[in-house]
Amino acid sequence: MTGDWKQATQLVHAGARRSQYGEMSEAIFLTQGFAYESAEAAEARFVGAGPDEFIYARYGNPTVRMFEDRIAAVEGTQDAFATASGMAAVSGALMALVKAGDHVVAARALFGSCLYVLENVLARFGVEITLVDGTDILAWQSAIRPDTRLVFFETISNPTLEVIDIAAVCQVAHAVGALVLVDNVFSTPTFSRAVALGADVVIYSSTKHIDGQGRALGGVICGTRDLVRGPIETYMKHTGGAMSPFTAWVMLNGLVTLDLRCRAMAATAGKIADALAGDARLSRVIYPHLANHPQHALALQQMESGGTLVSFDIAAGKAAAFRFMNALQIIKISNNLGDARSIATHPATTTHQRLPDDQKQLLGITPGLIRLSVGLEDAGDLIADIGQALDMI
Ligand SMILES: *Cc1c(COP(=O)(O)O)cnc(C)c1O
Repeated sequence: MTGDWKQATQLVHAGARRSQYGEMSEAIFLTQGFAYESAEAAEARFVGAGPDEFIYARYGNPTVRMFEDRIAAVEGTQDAFATASGMAAVSGALMALVKAGDHVVAARALFGSCLYVLENVLARFGVEITLVDGTDILAWQSAIRPDTRLVFFETISNPTLEVIDIAAVCQVAHAVGALVLVDNVFSTPTFSRAVALGADVVIYSSTKHIDGQGRALGGVICGTRDLVRGPIETYMKHTGGAMSPFTAWVMLNGLVTLDLRCRAMAATAGKIADALAGDARLSRVIYPHLANHPQHALALQQMESGGTLVSFDIAAGKAAAFRFMNALQIIKISNNLGDARSIATHPATTTHQRLPDDQKQLLGITPGLIRLSVGLEDAGDLIADIGQALDMI
């Protein structure tokens, strides 16, 4: 039974549907529509479509359904809905699950566009938002109220890699009947335990580790069948954020190698963090499994691995951080993450540029901060590249 398979097996096989040709690589069903055998069959399909019956690619498609079934099996949820991007997944899940008058509590350290959807979109439709320091369980306790409908956070935050206590926040949220939505990109499906720890809905930008080679935008919302095929599918199919069949095929094949890639990248990230720890030119090295991480004990307990990202702060500030980045030879300057190619990002001037200075300070986004997404290159080569670039600051 597929339900008994280990995650590595699910990643390769779960959800596969084969046509009469028995193709090995999943077929790309590049079709928008589906022909019905009769008018009666069309009528019946619109009343209720079975798992292998499709109506229109905005609602679902066989290749997209294979990706949805595979990621749901891997994540340990009953179902999943694939979307055109990670932000289509975040905004779709939020719009599907709250209404005017609801109260939402979210961690303050969020991916910039997630913060925009909460503060600028949901707020415009009469949803009240409270932002808290996600690492402070007392802050969650005092923010969550009887009318709190939903709680939202990144399980490891961007770019300062804060670790949020998933089980503790779920307990406070569930006590008032609120749903817990997590943006799980930094944890990766390989290392995620979000569902076991109580999260109701788990969202990925599949643009990141799931594709893993920086080719295609995509996203997915994982949860119970009632939520996914209820309000989430209803919202997504009418508003048009569906994943394309070609993208689903890219993502399916990304899942096949996800486990190997995430483990290799995380092992290298740990080596880089160890090599950088204690370097006098850095005022901070942030990696969840380093002993000096503020939530180190929680990180060890909650996360099998420290993940594939390492952040560090070049003490001499922005000009030195730019000299460091410009001296890198293997590591690329870009803003994606989870790619097989290592990427250095300067959050203060790129991904978080628009935040006012006091917000940047509050979130620890200092002028010298570098976020490193560790790829699949040789660990020694990457450590040498970072070392020679640090010598240039
Ligand atoms: C990239 C990212 C998103 C948005 O995903 P897109 O695929 O770029 O739309 C959301 N949350 C986090 C944590 C991300 O890293």
